[in-house]
Amino acid sequence: MIVAQGKSIAEVAKLIEDANKVLVVGCGGCVTVCLAGGEKEVGVLASALRMLRQKENKPLETVEVTLSRQCDPEYMDMLEKYITDDIDCVVSMACGVGVQFIAERFDKWVVPALNTKFAGGAMEHGVWGERCGLCGECVLHKTGGICPIIRCSKSILNGPCGGSQDGKCEINQDVECAWQLIYDRMKKLGQLDKLMEIEPAKDWSKSRDGGPRKVVREDVMIP
Ligand code: SF4
Ligand code: SF4
Repeated sequence: MIVAQGKSIAEVAKLIEDANKVLVVGCGGCVTVCLAGGEKEVGVLASALRMLRQKENKPLETVEVTLSRQCDPEYMDMLEKYITDDIDCVVSMACGVGVQFIAERFDKWVVPALNTKFAGGAMEHGVWGERCGLCGECVLHKTGGICPIIRCSKSILNGPCGGSQDGKCEINQDVECAWQLIYDRMKKLGQLDKLMEIEPAKDWSKSRDGGPRKVVREDVMIP
């Protein structure tokens, strides 16, 4: 999932300082799972913003809604009835995709309430770890399911750098060396011989060198 983290209340308050009435829009997808932008967080942010403005003697009106997803036009349709003329600003509590989908769809000022961090998962309750850099051509079948692009600090494809010490990455003793993890796992699985194959330089053209990427699935497109 996409992992995001809320901006501070003060930061969001600053972003909407000129508004009298805002629509706070949550998302029921990834940001609900990582406890950053779901229905509960919408309620908390909206009331915190109202209280802050009350203190400043500049009352703020909020309307709150949480869509199943902000990255899908069918859910975006549902937003239409909330985007009334008196709404000065939309505060999106989705990832950057949701913010941009709202901006593409409606002629309203929209601001992000979250910082979109990475593609990852929950390691324990309240702790999320990055696992994928969305590189466009996955190599996990060669590395025992451990991503060298993201989990190795230098994104090395052919084994550890000289800084790997006692299984830790040279950048920080708290960071596991990804290549130690890969080696240990390949050994455990009896697949060490696969690591002897030289991995050529990565073809980054599948990643970000061609500008914004698009996935087209003609088989599921509606004519
Ligand atoms: S190799 Fe690329 S697609 Fe696969 S997990 Fe790593 S960054 Fe993600
Ligand atoms: S110590 Fe390991 S994880 Fe860190 S940069 Fe070197 S190979 Fe990558």
